Amino acid sequence: MSTPNQPDLAIEVRGLTKSYGDLSVLHGIDLHVAKGEIVAFLGPNGAGKTTAIEILEGYRSRDSGEVRVLGQDPANAPLSWREDIGIVVQESEQTAELTAAESLAMHAGYYRNPRDPAAVLELVGLAGSADQRTRKLSGGQKRRLDLGMALVGNPELVFLDEPTTGFDPSARRESWGLIEALRDLGKTVLLTTHYMDEAEQLADRIVVIANGRIVAGGTAAELAAQVDARSRVSWRHRPDQPAPPADLGWSVLDANELAVLDIGPADGAGDAEVLQRLHRLLAWALDNGVDLPELEVKRPTLEDVYLELTDHGGVRGPGDPPAPSDRPATDEKRTTA
Ligand code: ATP
Repeated sequence: MSTPNQPDLAIEVRGLTKSYGDLSVLHGIDLHVAKGEIVAFLGPNGAGKTTAIEILEGYRSRDSGEVRVLGQDPANAPLSWREDIGIVVQESEQTAELTAAESLAMHAGYYRNPRDPAAVLELVGLAGSADQRTRKLSGGQKRRLDLGMALVGNPELVFLDEPTTGFDPSARRESWGLIEALRDLGKTVLLTTHYMDEAEQLADRIVVIANGRIVAGGTAAELAAQVDARSRVSWRHRPDQPAPPADLGWSVLDANELAVLDIGPADGAGDAEVLQRLHRLLAWALDNGVDLPELEVKRPTLEDVYLELTDHGGVRGPGDPPAPSDRPATDEKRTTA
């Protein structure tokens, strides 16, 4: 690397590029993750997340760029480096006939300094299913075991690939608790997810990739400041009642008489502007004895901001790269580590 390692960084990436044949997938990405940080890596299907992460994990080669993960280049890191990395993939293969406890104990045997498998079972909420054969575990319990497998080696850095895809809402919330537990253990986590609430809830920082380029990074609030994300005040307009002053900038949106007042950066507006307009609207309504049925104030969500940043979800056009399901498997397939 052109500059010395920064010991406080778990991941340092500069100018990373990768192509599959003629298909250029990563166009020189930069990424930094501090030790102890939880970073959510978001992007539309086919944006290049898995490719980038597999390069960081040492499972995929790169074309160019500088990569350091826990101070090592994953392309030629020693075996001991792999022990400091935990990987939870979307579909791992578990040994069906082993119990949950046996699976973890077997996995722990691959490491020099494993965590106590019983304590890990407890941590991932599987203590009650310790003697259950893995083929009999529910989908959610299998994912917990995956997480346990990734943690039993006591890694410093954990890659979580869409950890709650397919979970019911309560299982998702429970998994969030597990990921919070990783934070308490001081682990660094790089999390890919398509759930905006998950990113918002868990991540210290969000990095957005689209078409192989990092398009934004920061907290949800910092991302919102980078796009023209508008707040909306809305209410049901009653034509038989007096109309609010036109200079509030409101309009009637649809045939159902939904009145809206949009406020965004173009108005030079921050929170103060939203409050001020709302205050004027409410004062006017009270003074004139007009009610504002179904009054709502909607702040831009991370999803609104994300769609704006990724050009409305990166909908595929004819010239876009093929969907990931079209891809030939070329490099080594990774498994839970
Ligand atoms: P998703 O959210 O759908 O998992 P992703 O952001 O992880 O997507 P990648 O899996 O990195 O995206 O894929 C990026 C692009 O590279 C896609 O166009 C995909 O088809 C292509 N691709 C990925 N792996 C290979 C491969 N082994 N050989 C050829 N092309 C590939």
